[in-house]
Amino acid sequence: TRILNIVGGGMAGAEAAWQAARIGVPVRLHEMRPHVGTFAHRTGSLAEMVCSNSFRSDDDERNAVGLLHWEMREAGGLIMRTADRHRLAAGGALAVDRDPFAEAVTDAIRAEPLIEMVPGEVCELPCEGDWIVATGPLTGSALAASIAEETGADALAFFDAIAPIVHFDSIDLSKAWFQSRYDKGDTEEERTAYLNCPMDRATYEAFIDAILGAEKAPFKEGETAGYFDGCLPIEVMAERGRETLRHGPMKPVGLTNPHAPDVKPWAIVQLRRDNALGTLWNIVGFQTKMKYGAQADVLRMIPGLEEARFARLGGIHRNTFLNSPILLDGQLRLRSRPNVRFAGQITGVEGYVESAACGLLAGRLAAAEILGRPMPTPPGTTATGALMHHVTGGAEAKTFQPMNVNFGLFPPIDAKGGRRGRRDRYLAYTDRAKADWHAWLGTTEAEAA
Ligand code: FAD
Repeated sequence: TRILNIVGGGMAGAEAAWQAARIGVPVRLHEMRPHVGTFAHRTGSLAEMVCSNSFRSDDDERNAVGLLHWEMREAGGLIMRTADRHRLAAGGALAVDRDPFAEAVTDAIRAEPLIEMVPGEVCELPCEGDWIVATGPLTGSALAASIAEETGADALAFFDAIAPIVHFDSIDLSKAWFQSRYDKGDTEEERTAYLNCPMDRATYEAFIDAILGAEKAPFKEGETAGYFDGCLPIEVMAERGRETLRHGPMKPVGLTNPHAPDVKPWAIVQLRRDNALGTLWNIVGFQTKMKYGAQADVLRMIPGLEEARFARLGGIHRNTFLNSPILLDGQLRLRSRPNVRFAGQITGVEGYVESAACGLLAGRLAAAEILGRPMPTPPGTTATGALMHHVTGGAEAKTFQPMNVNFGLFPPIDAKGGRRGRRDRYLAYTDRAKADWHAWLGTTEAEAA
């Protein structure tokens, strides 16, 4: 029998192992802790929550992460089942009693007869056999070097530099306009690939003051090695001089504001399309360690973004992740070595829940392939499908950064029959997702039976 090897027993690896074993495929799960540690993990348990103890919103009707919970529950997910058993009161959020949770996941995996736990660090990308690499944001350095050798150093990042991402429908187009700098590009689409937000001098000065005054998140000990190679946070640029941003990402050149062609802006903030659907736009060069609350207030000072809704706020963290849109196929396989799948945060999904969902899918896809019954990926209308389509192709490869699940990743729903409020629209997304998830589970499980 073919054995599925899984490297890393975190959120993704534990869930992948469980799913594959449930389908009847024997698994070897390789985990380096507690022999080799990371700066964030404290224990030797599987599925350790390294920071917050929250799985975020549990609302499966109007919240995309709540919908992901629902999809995993419907698919018999171990992480969700265990989180539900160790849930702490937290209003609409799913907070988890982290140590009993991680111990219960570990016990369930140990008790599963088809899973063998293999202690120790895996140091090389395997050439033969069936593998899932789910080693997370703090992948061991030897394995990371081996992956970088296979993919090319540029295709594996060790830090994220996340610029804030805005929902397109929350941008005020009476102030912002579409134009690429110096109208560069061969096609109309390229010449209008950016959205521009103009700032006058007084707004710019107030904006710099707000950035300097905003509270910043500190780096954790051991997190900063190798940092600052690439992208400086905007607050560091602002600290270097009040004009630095105006000569950097906010330079007001090569652009003409059609709303006020005679007024030359003092500075211009640019947003770039972040997904093929055009529903998400990132603020160019705006990676930042400003704390989330302060950050949203500062960003809403930008003309045109007063009412912005953020699909995600900016951040910079130690984070090992692949340029998945070019490296992985739709089945999460490494194109250059299809015997290796990737799962979890290393694929560029972000968060405990997203990582577990990615593991759930990778485990099922790998097991189905081993059993000779290849399985389609779930449709992009489901939360799991939307996230996977994003990382394996929907996202812009050039600017690829880790992503949480959010409704901006879903194909838009036509609001036929007049305007519908936002709450209503999200319900339409989740209704569609649930029907499509059941249909996908039904076909894939019928094929397996
Ligand atoms: P992990 O859960 O990290 O699991 C990877 C596993 O692989 C680990 O057990 C590791 O020991 C093992 N491993 C690594 N390399 C090797 C190797 N070479 N051989 C064998 N085993 C190996 N997400 C949130 O949702 N909320 C938060 O508050 C949050 N805070 C975070 C704080 C920090 C400091 C970091 C680094 C991440 C944080 N995240 C948070 C992201 C979080 O880590 C991931 O969302 C989630 O744990 C990733 O799941 P994973 O399975 O991909 O990786």
